[in-house]
Amino acid sequence: MSGRTALIYSPEYEGRGMSPITQAWARYGATFRLVRELGLLDNGVEVVEPVQATEAELQLAHAKSYIHYVQKMDALGEGFLDGVETPAYPGVYRRAALSVGGSLRAARRIVRGDFDHAFNPGGGLHHAREHRAAGFCVFNDLAMVARLLRRELGMERIAIVDVDGHHADGTQAILYAEPILKISLHMYSPLFYPGTGTLDETGEADGTGYAINVPLPPHTGHAAYLHAFDEVVEPLLRRMAPQFLLLQFGVDGYYRDPMVLLDLTARTYEGVAGRMHRLAHELCDGRLLVLGGGGYEPNDVARCWAVMLAAISGALPEEARDRYGALFDESPPPERERITERVEQRIFELKAKNFPPFWQATGGPV
Ligand SMILES: [Zn+2]
Ligand SMILES: [Zn+2]
Repeated sequence: MSGRTALIYSPEYEGRGMSPITQAWARYGATFRLVRELGLLDNGVEVVEPVQATEAELQLAHAKSYIHYVQKMDALGEGFLDGVETPAYPGVYRRAALSVGGSLRAARRIVRGDFDHAFNPGGGLHHAREHRAAGFCVFNDLAMVARLLRRELGMERIAIVDVDGHHADGTQAILYAEPILKISLHMYSPLFYPGTGTLDETGEADGTGYAINVPLPPHTGHAAYLHAFDEVVEPLLRRMAPQFLLLQFGVDGYYRDPMVLLDLTARTYEGVAGRMHRLAHELCDGRLLVLGGGGYEPNDVARCWAVMLAAISGALPEEARDRYGALFDESPPPERERITERVEQRIFELKAKNFPPFWQATGGPV
């Protein structure tokens, strides 16, 4: 089954992006053109313009002093927002507030029943902290949407699944003490950014048990990744019975991506999207908001995002089947047996260590 789907999109997404990796800025335009060529926009996916988040909305997740600092740096027009990674430039405030505003608008419209699903490629800015920018993320829309849903839109049980190749450290930090399920699957190895996301980080206070990290070794690969997803994400979501699902869909785990070495393919992302879409319909009347994230090779990002949008919208026209089939990889990287064993061992440890606190937090042992 499938419901109405929104693509949150503005031509402004095609301008300067928030990362210093200039070649990556083209990924939004490339995605938009590809989904239009596939016929998704004429067959059930509606384009909705993002609206810039207000200061009050930004304060859902950020300190007023930090918001004003970004405005000041925007006026200054140079340097870095976080000293090292995330550049300041004239227009950065507008660009950042528009991206996260799109996620807020999408969440409101899903709750109102206008759409079942939405995808905001400009969102998914999971490294941003309450008081600072980080990792090309200025404002954290995942934390903002989760709080909007709980504080203003009457949703109590929210789950965030993050499949970006990097740990969702900002989202985790902002929501660490809140009973919002935060599952992050990411590559973890010494010196790899951001260095957090271990089994020891489980949440605090009311959030105890609600942070679930799935640290994966380099070269995890398609089958082992989906195995981890099935073993961890599905049982936790079923237990949580969320009223709203957020999916951060960074695709830098793709095997040709220059930043991450997870060896995932377009098939892996199709698998993740299909699973989340099915769970959204089974658990929360379809309410699923998908956000962008990492991915630095525009054409590869466009393929992975288009595959996801086709999977959640069911809007692929019959005549585009061949074109769609050509989006998948002809020679994906090989599975590595030793790595698969390590992934299985990691899942075993995670279930023993991290499942009990979550069962406890959500109603006692089962
Ligand atoms: Zn659907
Ligand atoms: Zn990433």
